[in-house]
Amino acid sequence: MIEKTSKIPDGKKGRVEGEIIDYKDAKYLFFPTADLKCPAGETCVFDGDYVKVGQLIGTRHGAFFDQPIHSTVSGKVIGIEKKLHGSSGDVVDCLIIENDFKYELCTSCKPRTKEEIDKLTKDDYINIIKDSGLSGLGGSGFPTYVKFQTDKTIDVVLANGVECEPIIVSDYQIMKNKPERIVKGLIYSMKALKAPRGVIAIKKKYPKLKEEFDAILANYEEDITVKLVADYYPQGWENETIKSALGIKVPVGTLTNEYGVVVLNVTTLYGIYRAVERKMPITERFFSIAGEGINEPKSFNVRIGTPVKDLIAICGGYVDEDIPKELVVGGPMMGNNITNDDFFISKTTTSLIVNNQKIEKELECISCASCVYSCPVDLKPVQIMNAYKARDKEQVATLDVNRCIECGLCSYTCPAKIPLTEIMKQAKRFIKA
Ligand code: SF4
Ligand code: SF4
Repeated sequence: MIEKTSKIPDGKKGRVEGEIIDYKDAKYLFFPTADLKCPAGETCVFDGDYVKVGQLIGTRHGAFFDQPIHSTVSGKVIGIEKKLHGSSGDVVDCLIIENDFKYELCTSCKPRTKEEIDKLTKDDYINIIKDSGLSGLGGSGFPTYVKFQTDKTIDVVLANGVECEPIIVSDYQIMKNKPERIVKGLIYSMKALKAPRGVIAIKKKYPKLKEEFDAILANYEEDITVKLVADYYPQGWENETIKSALGIKVPVGTLTNEYGVVVLNVTTLYGIYRAVERKMPITERFFSIAGEGINEPKSFNVRIGTPVKDLIAICGGYVDEDIPKELVVGGPMMGNNITNDDFFISKTTTSLIVNNQKIEKELECISCASCVYSCPVDLKPVQIMNAYKARDKEQVATLDVNRCIECGLCSYTCPAKIPLTEIMKQAKRFIKA
């Protein structure tokens, strides 16, 4: 049985038209002092301090970059508590702020005039984006300012609105609700990178979105076009988006700026707009809860730091509490399983999927090669698995596991239910050790 898989049920029907619930009034908000990319950090406020929306409250430190932490409400710092981080699955220290529901804005958050914006240099843009703590808001968490630090000539900035993961509609919602701000974020990015051209890539099944963007773009003189791309997985992986939207083939492992392209997710572009025009860090994001295990799946606009338990309650809780639940943070293909729902919204938390737990028995590999045919980067997952199980480091490295983009297709397609993607992740760690 040989099967190449790229079409997967997208589970978005009914969700793209659905209502967005504005839930911005959590009583307590949680801000991690560490995450996957920045495992250490400290706060710069103390218990009892009064903080405002947009105020710097700490910094996370990583091997290659730091991330500022900002409050998303005004209120009182009441301490630090250990809590699960939705994206990493680790238990981390979180600063807790008690919301006073006044939403007083930090004095540093004020609009920038057009004249001030016109004078911004590339370095200014880099500093603005860095200070706002922006990182890939599509879920990658990669620090955005690094993409602007290139010396290469950039021909085109590509706005990635493809969001190919099934079920997730977070980028779709921001395109539907704030398209002009995305366009402005794209224009600022083009200016910062001196790129003459912008392209917005969205799925061809959303022609109405294209019409909305086209109508907005008619008011701007910049060279920006909307490109509709086919609906398959992993179309949203940046190399694939570049190929579909621009016709450029970027080899895996090569930086896209080598080909004159910088790719920015649409939610990240919205963040750039806020940082440039309003001197505001990201304080809220779209987030959805879906899956057969939740009573009423819903989409939200929430403040960063909001406990997910509050949102689960708004969804009417779990279907049949007696059935154990499987919780996945992120999409069903690339998301991470999490042990419980006591976590909070971070900048990169796009969604929670709640499934009733099914015990799927893993079978022996039947050498069908479906995983090999389906891999978008031409790896041989089954061979990597065998080399990893044999603890053959050299062979795992030779089979190039580091090129794996962790898209989940090999696990999805495997008839023997072997968790190949998880094995790829383990194999990567194995050759690093
Ligand atoms: S998870 Fe990795 S090995 Fe599996 S299909 Fe995707 S890229 Fe290929
Ligand atoms: S690992 Fe799964 S998909 Fe790959 S060859 Fe074996 S049975 Fe087929």
